Amino acid sequence: MRTILRKLSILSGRSNESWLVLLLALVVLAPSICLLWFMNQAVQNERLAVRQKLVDAYRGHLTLAQEQLEARWKTNAAELDAEAKIIPAAMLFAQQVRAGSADALICFDAAGKIAYPDLPPQPKHEVRDAAWAQAERVEFIDPTNAAGEFARIGEGATNVDLAARALQAQARCLVRAGQKEAAISLLLGPLSEARFRTATDFEGRLVAPNAQLMALELLKGSAPEKVEPPLDRLKAELVDYETPGLSAPQRRFVMHELLRLFPDRVQFSTLMAEDLAAAVVEAQALQPAEPTLRPTRLPGVWQFASESGRVVTLHQTESLVARLRAATMSPTLPADVRVDPLVPGREREGALLSLPLGPKLPNWRLALSLKDQRLFDAATSQRVASYVWIGVLVVGVVSVLAAFALRLVRRQVALTQLRNDLVANVTHELKTPLSSMRLLVDTLLNSQPLHEQTAREYLQLIAKENVRLSRLIDNFLTFSRIERNKYAFDFNETSAASIAESAAGAVRERFQPPGCRFEVNIAPNLPSVMADADAMVTALLNLLENAWKYSGEDKQITLAASAVDGSVCFAVRDNGIGLSPRDTKRIFKRFYQVDQRLSRSGGGCGLGLSIVKFVVEAHRGNIQVESEPGRGSTFTITLPAAGSDPKEDGT
Ligand code: ADP
Repeated sequence: MRTILRKLSILSGRSNESWLVLLLALVVLAPSICLLWFMNQAVQNERLAVRQKLVDAYRGHLTLAQEQLEARWKTNAAELDAEAKIIPAAMLFAQQVRAGSADALICFDAAGKIAYPDLPPQPKHEVRDAAWAQAERVEFIDPTNAAGEFARIGEGATNVDLAARALQAQARCLVRAGQKEAAISLLLGPLSEARFRTATDFEGRLVAPNAQLMALELLKGSAPEKVEPPLDRLKAELVDYETPGLSAPQRRFVMHELLRLFPDRVQFSTLMAEDLAAAVVEAQALQPAEPTLRPTRLPGVWQFASESGRVVTLHQTESLVARLRAATMSPTLPADVRVDPLVPGREREGALLSLPLGPKLPNWRLALSLKDQRLFDAATSQRVASYVWIGVLVVGVVSVLAAFALRLVRRQVALTQLRNDLVANVTHELKTPLSSMRLLVDTLLNSQPLHEQTAREYLQLIAKENVRLSRLIDNFLTFSRIERNKYAFDFNETSAASIAESAAGAVRERFQPPGCRFEVNIAPNLPSVMADADAMVTALLNLLENAWKYSGEDKQITLAASAVDGSVCFAVRDNGIGLSPRDTKRIFKRFYQVDQRLSRSGGGCGLGLSIVKFVVEAHRGNIQVESEPGRGSTFTITLPAAGSDPKEDGT
């Protein structure tokens, strides 16, 4: 029953302890989690605050950039109008494109008709005369003859148009007839004369550029010195936007053809603009002209009209963004920020702030962001680091305090447990000798008459129980003093032999044959030890008592004292029941008993060895057990000899 109660109390003690650990873990965790949350919030706030500071600092710059941009577009629109009045449309086109102000331009005349890029010229529907018709008829049958006929028409021609057309047709027939060289010299010779510069074919196109293109086509693959002069001349004519006459479609056609024929030698800076403008015109993608930036019907192409609407600049999204960005560049803009125009509907990730770009560029925004995000991080990281350190410190301190509290509470719990155990043990252990004494006394009192012999025997038994009781109480008192740190030792240089002899003397009378053989082997010339003699005798007595208690009918007990390497060893050997290796590790714990029934019959309560250990350790010694179940045990106490340890001061 007592065992069960004891186990229950241990179990309840353990479960209490796990609750305690859980509670303390909560005490640490809850504030730690709260703290981490607060820190996280603080970090966020810090980032927001830093961001706000940056926003405040840079807002002025962004507003300035925005105003600058708006003004720039206004001026552009006005300038375009002014220039449109004095510069021919084609020239204005080339000038703006070359200056990079727009990707393309569409210019209108005063009547609102497209002036550039103009539409293909209208065919002239001129009636070919009989001679021309005859020459055309034989062109495919007899090209040489046809060439002669066209030559004759040319010679007799009264206007330049007809003369040029006849020369062109003659060259064509010569090519058909396989006379390539003759055709080339015709095309680059007479047909390139200045008088034919404005001559047009039946379709209304200029004859000269087409003739030169034809010559170059025939020259393809010839030596560069042959190709380059006519090629350079034609290229110069194509990029000449000043001389009127060449229509935009013909210009584009010849440019593309040249690019196809001589991709490595030809490049036209205005060709992309020509294509873009033509595409917008052909697709009728232009919105009504308004002096604001707005999308055309062609995806990715924007239009911006001058105030009067006579010039519409065209911009592709990417180059427009680049153009706007360039316009916002200002020497006053801090080096660590960048300003980006934002296409309507798009946002820039990580931008500090964005503002609308104003009425000239509706729905466009201007965003300001840091060039290097690390700058922002650097601005906040210092504060964040200090928060993190504070957090770590607080969590650390809370954890240390909790661990400290846990230790204190554990100790308190252990003490309470101990007190309970002690009370339970004391009452129980005292009850046994007291009951047997009471029984003996009652028997004596009830004996009529009282025989002296019986009385003596009973009194001897009572005395024995009394001794047992005293020993128990001594052990309890010693233990209690130890636990309250009230046990005071009185260290003196003492003869080791006298300690062993005192202990042996105390038991010698009891440890006598026939039931017991008791041997005492004290080596001669033992060194003295710094010891509290009474405490050491008590320790040896406890070992001797145990040797007696835990040995059978035929006891052989030896107490030996010897000197080993500057120490003195006291060994108590018995031939008793012995101990298992597992128990030898536990027997020094307080209240530990291998077999409670056996211990109690010998008047033990599991405190003896814990007291011995305490006493020995207070003497800076140690105690060891060698034991084997059924073969007896040897308990050896080793104490340093006096003077062997200079630190020992006897207190
Ligand atoms: P107790 O008062 O029960 O003897 P101790 O602290 O003196 O308490 O001993 C603890 C336990 O160690 C004993 O209960 C016993 O089981 C075991 N023990 C101690 N000395 C011996 C020994 N010489 N032989 C066998 N077992 C022993």
